[in-house]
Amino acid sequence: PSVERPEDCLQFLRRGRVTLVTRCGVLLNGPSPQRRLDLIQAGAREILDFPAPDALLLARARSLLREAETFRELERRRQATLKFGFSDVRAAYATLSTLSWVAERGNRIDPPDLGSGRSWKIVQATVSDALSPVNPTEKPSAYVLDWRGSDPQSPIRKALPELRARTHSRHSGIMALYADDDTDAAIQALDSGATEVVAASVSGRETGLKISRLLKTMAVEDALRRSAETSMQLAVTDPLTGLFNRRYAEAYLLDLLADRKAEEYFAVMIADIDHFKLINDRYGHAVGDQVLQAVAERLRAEMRAVDLVARYGGEEFLIILSESNLLQAKRAANRVRQRIGREPVELRDGRGIDVTMSIGVCLGSPGDMRRPRRAQRKQNFGLVNSEISSLLERADSALYTAKAKGRNRVRVAPNAASAA
Ligand code: GH3
Ligand code: MG
Ligand code: MG
Repeated sequence: PSVERPEDCLQFLRRGRVTLVTRCGVLLNGPSPQRRLDLIQAGAREILDFPAPDALLLARARSLLREAETFRELERRRQATLKFGFSDVRAAYATLSTLSWVAERGNRIDPPDLGSGRSWKIVQATVSDALSPVNPTEKPSAYVLDWRGSDPQSPIRKALPELRARTHSRHSGIMALYADDDTDAAIQALDSGATEVVAASVSGRETGLKISRLLKTMAVEDALRRSAETSMQLAVTDPLTGLFNRRYAEAYLLDLLADRKAEEYFAVMIADIDHFKLINDRYGHAVGDQVLQAVAERLRAEMRAVDLVARYGGEEFLIILSESNLLQAKRAANRVRQRIGREPVELRDGRGIDVTMSIGVCLGSPGDMRRPRRAQRKQNFGLVNSEISSLLERADSALYTAKAKGRNRVRVAPNAASAA
């Protein structure tokens, strides 16, 4: 049965031999060490001796539900990125992962014999090594905190919530090893975020198996997390320049229009590189790409963090000033234009290329336009409605005028009321 609340879980567990069939199997009535090994190998998530104290069962149930929830969330994100049309990224298992075995200084007990055939290595560490690694990029995949013989206030126990809070270890697997008669330690560990708790009497082979499984789970979760993050990143950015892409900029405009009050103005600029085709023709496409990157960098540097800079098409950029009047927008556009033309773009081989841009500016506010109601699907660019199209068309015709007047200049579109 699927259980949602720890209390329900407890009801099931109290009835005796129960296996929770989700990702997490819990089995009671602790059998022989060999039987335990078989069960773990068969996929049981945890084996508890019966009867176990309620508080421990509850802590266990809470941690299993949390774990299942994390996995479901990652799975949802993966599904979302698949919807965006990205191919599934297979979990890349680290060839050799590192396990950090953390013990208190002066109380260093050797790790038990964990069996053979492992695909991971153990590095012994002190609490401060674990909390402040010399090289955070070479971080271990998981930690075992040796809590045997420690008291509740000792540094090794406080290290657990600390590891959960720090950037380098936030998503790592953490196993706490506790003395058999100290179930309070197990509860404390589970409630402060341990992924696993293992009693000291559990055989080295079983502990080794659990560590292997922990490392594997962590690798899968890590790959899911990374693939979801990078796919989301890819979905909204332009790969050449790193700026936002057209789809994102248009979605952003829709939101902006929907959120604004009638009298709140914002500005859009379409900035287009002058005679870019000549640059491509003269220097080749690769140099053209370098110029696009340099221009993007200058645009990014020149605009405020609250402004949105996107690559709108080949050599066209869309800039959205979320709060602006006409004068400010015109000034900003001229500042950008001067910044682009001020000094040549320096290529990697040292050559310099002069670049200029023409910019069409248009002021918008929801009051000028009908509120967006119907969002239509236009080509494959996501959601664009007619209000946004007309705003962009006005900026585009201002740009066209700037080109016609000789390029390297800014033109402002007449406002919607007088244009109509
Ligand atoms: P104008 O001043 O009127 O804007 O002239 P232009 O040459 O800049 O405009 P046109 O639209 O004729 O040419 C744009 C060129 O940009 C054509 C296209 O091959 C090139 N282009 C578009 N995307 C890329 C890209 O990603 N990399 C490179 N290198 N060139 C691109
Ligand atoms: Mg151009
Ligand atoms: Mg163009």
